[in-house]
Amino acid sequence: MNRRKFLHFSALTAPLLTATRSFASGFEAANRPIVISTWDSGMPVNAAAWKVLSAKGSALDAVEAGARHMEDRIDCCVGLGGYPDRDGIVTLDSCIMDHQSNCGAVAGIEKIKHPVSVARKVMEKTPHVILVGAGAQQFAVENGFPLESGELSESAKKAYAEWLKKSEYKPVINIENKKQNGPFAPQFFDDGTLNHDTMGLVAMDMNNDLSGAVTTSGMAFKIHGRVGDSPIIGAGLFVDNEVGAATSSGLGEEVIRICGTHLVVEFMRQGYSPELACKKACERIVKRNLEKAKTLQVGFLALNKKGQYGAYAIQKGFVFSVKSEKENQIHQSKYLV
Ligand code: ASP
Repeated sequence: MNRRKFLHFSALTAPLLTATRSFASGFEAANRPIVISTWDSGMPVNAAAWKVLSAKGSALDAVEAGARHMEDRIDCCVGLGGYPDRDGIVTLDSCIMDHQSNCGAVAGIEKIKHPVSVARKVMEKTPHVILVGAGAQQFAVENGFPLESGELSESAKKAYAEWLKKSEYKPVINIENKKQNGPFAPQFFDDGTLNHDTMGLVAMDMNNDLSGAVTTSGMAFKIHGRVGDSPIIGAGLFVDNEVGAATSSGLGEEVIRICGTHLVVEFMRQGYSPELACKKACERIVKRNLEKAKTLQVGFLALNKKGQYGAYAIQKGFVFSVKSEKENQIHQSKYLV
């Protein structure tokens, strides 16, 4: 076939091939709608997202609703109730991504209750992807988000006062099995502080479209200005509507180093199940430095176009929540170390 004939042939067959592929993936996607989220705190988050999904709403609206639910909580590690940085200031990170690879994020934003909705505005109203710090806050206020007081929550005040006694910067994160009252009890450190609880969620709607969102106050007692993986597209969240979506929780620096969720999605593209894709991403971190990996936690969570999901973590203790027509429960993730 000469080049001209080949091009002509391609032009004729390309729409047919595309149609076949989308028909195939739509046909196979039996488990929809579905929403999955990090940690056991994902159960009420999934419930908020499910309200949207079960009413035939979009995955994008669902993940925003789920993340907002978490941000409304006042005693946690997400939103303004989260733990502050080492200067005593709560700074929030969030991102959102839809089935057309539209995405938006805010990082280090202060005094704004719903960073995920600001991230969505960045996505929908600006030509940019990420706004940070004072600029993000200014954009939020200009778009009608009220400026909150910035006062620490009671538990954050207590934890910060405790931390100030030594002021040690030990970004050890999520070694959840340090002190547990049960398999899914809140994960406290020995000094009583709760170190993390980043909310990452991904969903597939009735149209077979994927979206995801992440929201967090980041690592407790971080350096002012530190940004973790959570608002970084490809690190804390990645969505590819042909393949699947993934999110992460844990020590963000390690996730950024390997472009963690992008890697998970690429492994799924190669044909790995969500669980194996997450496992291979964890292995990528561990391979670089096993000794270091023993001291830190990262967990990945993924969903593919068939509605299959899976997770993997470096350490024991990572759990995730799933809501679909078939189930509404918490699962324990497998782990490497
Ligand atoms: N990944 C978040 C960060 O590094 C923290 C977490 O997941 O708890 O900021």
